[in-house]
Amino acid sequence: MKRRAFLGTIGSTASLGTLAYATRGASDTLEVRIWLSERAATYDGVADRIRAYLDETLALGYWTLETSIGGSVSVSTEAAARLTHRGEWPMALASGTLGGRDLEPASDVNLLVTDGGMERAPTGYGVPHIASVGGARHIAALESFDDIVVDDARSIVPNTTPARTMQVLLHEIGHALGLDHKDGVAFVHDGALVATPMLSSYAWDPTYERNASPCGTTIPASDDRKQMLSFAFSSCARRRLANYDGEIRF
Ligand SMILES: [Zn+2]
Repeated sequence: MKRRAFLGTIGSTASLGTLAYATRGASDTLEVRIWLSERAATYDGVADRIRAYLDETLALGYWTLETSIGGSVSVSTEAAARLTHRGEWPMALASGTLGGRDLEPASDVNLLVTDGGMERAPTGYGVPHIASVGGARHIAALESFDDIVVDDARSIVPNTTPARTMQVLLHEIGHALGLDHKDGVAFVHDGALVATPMLSSYAWDPTYERNASPCGTTIPASDDRKQMLSFAFSSCARRRLANYDGEIRF
């Protein structure tokens, strides 16, 4: 759940010039392609479930969301964060090949889902245009969006492992689109502390700087409050996404 600058992650070894991202205009499509590790692909319906959730959470007014399935890829580990952090997934996309098959990257987000565990951080990782997350088995077990959302306006759901997995997935996509943890907020709803995707479980971390949000809100103390999740990006995050034009700036 940490973001590094793209070039900082890759080092100087990759020829990233081969990743030619089209510049997009304000009303263009947002292309998100979902890729699965071979083990993640053994669970039924994972990619389709993700696409359904993205339709509910990422189909924002300023772009036309275009999700697609890249298929399964042969990777060296199910440890999702490592695949992006150590460069294997970015390098595969940059070279357009992995394990003997050709890969065609999407312009905006290439999300690799593995069967990695969701118990110990880091459970995912996102850099510009590229993200990876574990938990395929939990996504397969996740109910439909309409079945678990208890508050439609803010897409609030109970903090279960499948729901948390989906929120981490959204979190890493947020990083892939240039968002940071400070774009996330938490708020109290019915006595529960609700974390939005970019803040995620940092909301329960007592050491997290709770007054530093550029969103103009203080993050309420976790205390003994019940924990809940929101699948809706904060208004701050949405403002930044509205300015996304295909280039990631730091
Ligand atoms: Zn993060």
